Amino acid sequence: MFGQRTQGLSEKRGEALPADVKLRIRRSLLRWYDRHRRDLPWRRRGENAYAQLLAEAMLQQTQVATVIGYYERFLERFPTVTDLAGAELDEVLTRWAGLGYYRRARHLHAAAQMIVDEFGGQVPRRVDELMRLPGVGRYTAGAIASVAFGERAPVVDGNVVRVLARLFAIGDDPKATATQARFWELADALLPNRRCGDFNQAMMELGATVCLPRGPVCKACPLRAVCQGFAGGRPESFPAATRRTAVLAAQMAVAAICCGERLLFVQRPASGLWAGLWELPTEPCAPDEAVRRARDRLRKRLPGGCRLSRTSAGQVERLLSHRRVTFHLYRGTLSRASSDKLSSSRRDGQRCRWVAPDAVQTMGISQACRAILDRLDR
Ligand code: SF4
Repeated sequence: MFGQRTQGLSEKRGEALPADVKLRIRRSLLRWYDRHRRDLPWRRRGENAYAQLLAEAMLQQTQVATVIGYYERFLERFPTVTDLAGAELDEVLTRWAGLGYYRRARHLHAAAQMIVDEFGGQVPRRVDELMRLPGVGRYTAGAIASVAFGERAPVVDGNVVRVLARLFAIGDDPKATATQARFWELADALLPNRRCGDFNQAMMELGATVCLPRGPVCKACPLRAVCQGFAGGRPESFPAATRRTAVLAAQMAVAAICCGERLLFVQRPASGLWAGLWELPTEPCAPDEAVRRARDRLRKRLPGGCRLSRTSAGQVERLLSHRRVTFHLYRGTLSRASSDKLSSSRRDGQRCRWVAPDAVQTMGISQACRAILDRLDR
């Protein structure tokens, strides 16, 4: 029986997989993929390496359903890598607005420029060349090389880790370097010489739609007959749970300064959190500092003639990576005469501008800033 043929493989290295096991996994998985794969827009552009690069950038940390609309609109505005390379970063960030994790957009823009400057406008096909692009790691390079160019390059992402850990009952810490190396070896060993891109996508698709983190649908799985996790009766116990990073609490004071209908925005520095995005003037609290102190500092940084309320007009809470941030909102006003002096200036070395409500939609702002504006609208 096949289940027996895979027993003990978890103790061996990927290369040790018997040829008949590999063949069975490849065939079953590809047949299943041909019948059940989702019709996703980037799959219709399989050989367009730029479109794959864009999809991979957008899909990092964002759900497929959210990405689809952004992906189509982005490609409409920047249909080629040259179009993207020639665009202003400000516009790229604006088109990205709402997807979050803006670092990805900055990397994508820089990668497009590198492709134009160093690769003659052609996305490179080899993994080592792809990994020279900003924001492109081994996974993304493997995905582009295999899907767009048919190169024999494995991929390992969260979905693939889950499938492999269950298939071979690997209970070691999935984040440990040695375990990661093992997943890459197994992914490489299983990869066929032909249809590499489809095989990689099939592994990821299985993890995304069948071998789910909770409640894997084993009865619909094409690999059930060879799955050690299933055979052992506890597939969900693989991969091992990793320790969660503690979430820290943080506070920030935010000023919503109005002049008529318009709001004062400032641009964040070019590096760090939300680099280059626009936001309402914000002042972080030091650990254990009272919010009113941050509010007082914020008031001193505001343009002369500006009034700022003493009491908070509300709060917005957001989870940012490993921090739970509470934004305390303070309303303020500035006379038109004072705002005119400020209109094209920099404030504390930061660019600032007055923005009408309908223009906010076209600015590069973070999801947190969007939530703050929604709160102010209430
Ligand atoms: Fe995952 Fe179940 Fe398939 Fe094993 S049989 S790979 S646990 S869905």
